[in-house]
Parts: sequence; structure tokens; C-alpha cells
Amino acid sequence: MAEKEYKQLSCRDAGADCDFLVRAETEEEVMTVAAAHGARVHGMKEVTSELKNKMKSLIKTVTV
Ligand SMILES: [Zn+2]
Repeated sequence: MAEKEYKQLSCRDAGADCDFLVRAETEEEVMTVAAAHGARVHGMKEVTSELKNKMKSLIKTVTV
């Protein structure tokens, strides 16, 4: 059984009381989905470079 590595980011890891979790093959994809979620659910208007860095630091590599 082949295991695969994914990038993962969850709102809980970011300290938010939210069950959102995104898992994708690339960091870019995770960022795109997370930014869309942030805009829709958390009223995040724009992803500043500071926020981007924070999100990137929270991305974990998981093996499924
Ligand atoms: Zn959330």
C-alpha cells in the first residue's frame, strides 16, 4: 500500500474555533483553498504577506 504525502492546514492549528481542514498535494493549493475559506467564513479580506507567512508556517506535511 503506497502512502502519499499531503500538505495540511487547519483552522484549529491557527487558533481558530473552526473545524475547517484542507489537505492538498501542494502548498499552493492549500493556500488557495485556505484563503477562500478565510474570506468566506472568517471575513478575511486579503491575504497579506504576513498572513501568508503565518499560514505557511502552520502547514504540516502528513502521510496518508
Ligand atoms: Zn475556519
